[in-house]
Amino acid sequence: MTTSSIGKKRVLPAWMKLCRSESSAEEKNESLSKKPREERIQAAAVNFEKILSDSLQELLFLGSLVYSHHRSDCSLLCEEMDASLRGRAGSFIGFDMEWPVTYRPGRQEKTAVLQLCPATDKCYVFHLSCIGDVPPGLQRLLSSPDITKVGVGIQSDLWKLERDYGMSVAHIIKSSVVDLSEFANRVLGTAETWSLDGLVKHMFGKKINKNPALRKSDWSVFPLSDSQKSYAATDAYVSYLIYEKLNQMNQKNDEKVKRK
Ligand code: ZN
Repeated sequence: MTTSSIGKKRVLPAWMKLCRSESSAEEKNESLSKKPREERIQAAAVNFEKILSDSLQELLFLGSLVYSHHRSDCSLLCEEMDASLRGRAGSFIGFDMEWPVTYRPGRQEKTAVLQLCPATDKCYVFHLSCIGDVPPGLQRLLSSPDITKVGVGIQSDLWKLERDYGMSVAHIIKSSVVDLSEFANRVLGTAETWSLDGLVKHMFGKKINKNPALRKSDWSVFPLSDSQKSYAATDAYVSYLIYEKLNQMNQKNDEKVKRK
């Protein structure tokens, strides 16, 4: 027991109070029909999830954000990124893409934005809708076998990039991508279909902004708003952070196995 807890009245957090009142109410109504009880448990679980989520701190990219919407700028920036990362052992980039949501079944809008995070203090947001294709510098960077590209569902994102812009991606998928959901299952010993948001909650106890108004905003319109840029950069940034942490955990696990 810590000294600070002696003689002090315990103050319960809001969610704990809710759970307590739910369970005592449940005990009182035990004799009532079964269905309302199950419904109450379900409602309490939903409520608990919401309270928990509301109380979480938001993880947001606050470093230097480069927004590029010109083909030559994009190419040049990628060449610089490529030059600084190539040859550095174990280098990786957080990867994500955005496109406008459509409500027509079986149809998907063209990829509008591609985000890359090569360091915790740097993110690039490339506005492909304005650029018109995947410029050569970006193609080379993505194709580099020395630089691992990491993201949730990154394989399907790359296949979409091939469908949308005709860039071949099979060699990238084969040689230099890590899907964070698969990697997390391997390192954490879980069997989940992880979302980016889910991984952030699980690994950092924080949340990312998944405000539908932003998520479903029109990503193809120039210029992107500051909140769109920040949202897009944050997705690539947290992909970077998740991989970095999983990689460290993985190395520790390997060392433990070796010592045995
Ligand atoms: Zn995203």
